[in-house]
Amino acid sequence: MKKLVIERVEAFEVTLPIEAPIRHSYGVHEAFTRTIVKVHTSDGLVGLAETAASAEEVERSGAVILGLSALETGVIRMRITERFYWSKNPLVAAALEMACVDIVGKALDVPAHQVLGGAVRDHIDLAAYCFYRYESATHAAVTTPDDMARHAADLVQRYGFGTVKLKAGVFEPAVEIETLRAIRDLLPGVKLRIDPNAAWAPATAMGLLGPLAEIGLEYLEDPVAGQAGMAEVRSKTSIPLSTNMCVVNFEDIPGAMALGSVDVILSDPWYWGGPLQTKTLADICKVQGIGMGMHSGIELGIGMAVMAHTGVTIPQLTLAVDAHHHHLTDDVIAGPRLLPAGDGRLAPPPGPGWGVELDEEKVGQYRELHDSGQFANLYVAGDSGNGADRFRPGWNPVMPSW
Ligand SMILES: [Mg+2]
Repeated sequence: MKKLVIERVEAFEVTLPIEAPIRHSYGVHEAFTRTIVKVHTSDGLVGLAETAASAEEVERSGAVILGLSALETGVIRMRITERFYWSKNPLVAAALEMACVDIVGKALDVPAHQVLGGAVRDHIDLAAYCFYRYESATHAAVTTPDDMARHAADLVQRYGFGTVKLKAGVFEPAVEIETLRAIRDLLPGVKLRIDPNAAWAPATAMGLLGPLAEIGLEYLEDPVAGQAGMAEVRSKTSIPLSTNMCVVNFEDIPGAMALGSVDVILSDPWYWGGPLQTKTLADICKVQGIGMGMHSGIELGIGMAVMAHTGVTIPQLTLAVDAHHHHLTDDVIAGPRLLPAGDGRLAPPPGPGWGVELDEEKVGQYRELHDSGQFANLYVAGDSGNGADRFRPGWNPVMPSW
């Protein structure tokens, strides 16, 4: 007899405001849009997840797992990702796997990290994720090196972050190197990362390796596109290279190992296919001698809980986890926001499953904001709007930019 039988997959998009529009090499985010997923079981349990796949796709794909048990995560993954060779979408598979882990945790009345093999530490470290920003009604623009250094120092002071990541690829590389130097001068004790989202050509990146080494980096993230380009840059520097762009699924790993293109793979519980798949990635990184970090894709509270519960079960996740979360001004979960309380750390929320529940009033409010169409968002398929950056009419990203 099957238990925890999946009866319904429900999904809807929400859009949440952020402090100010944040800039990257592909344009700007003016708000964060995510799809919230609820998987309902025959036992009356509801498993929660969030993802960047559209609600329509999650519900359509979710139809093929009805009647399976939430315990059958391997079968569920197969049904979604191996339906046909062009139809796999890890963002959908990840959300369904997350919801199933939440269901199992709730059914057993245990936290999700126990379902995932058990916690080896009690928290994950988070990094301050610094973006150049346009001004908003409440926050000043962050444009110059000094602006950014002050912004980083403010985040370090508020949340206790020990690592600062600069999202680059927005301005001329010389300006961004100057920005990194300004952060280093103001915050000599923090670990520093820079991520231009592959906006630099290989020759440009190689010309920057000297100044970057002098500033001192924990790692350099995706300076250029593609595994061959990364391998070329990596051969010229002792700065470790990390990626969430050229090694993004299991099929990419053999080529990356053969070419020697990366030192650190930034896992992501979404595009690697779910928390259990992230654990599989951790095992592969371990045997391949590759470091592991964790990438952020504008998560709300459910996502932060997933990252914390998953992260504490992975021994080699010693690098601070990226999180956009501090840019948000609100959340859809009930109770306190999942932000560090001055020590840069996030403990998995206690309680069964992911340990979070939705605040339905806020969900209603932010579904309305999404449906109003006020914000364009490039991260959710089907949403369209005013292009990559409405503050620069007619501008479109060209890669590499420099
Ligand atoms: Mg990145």
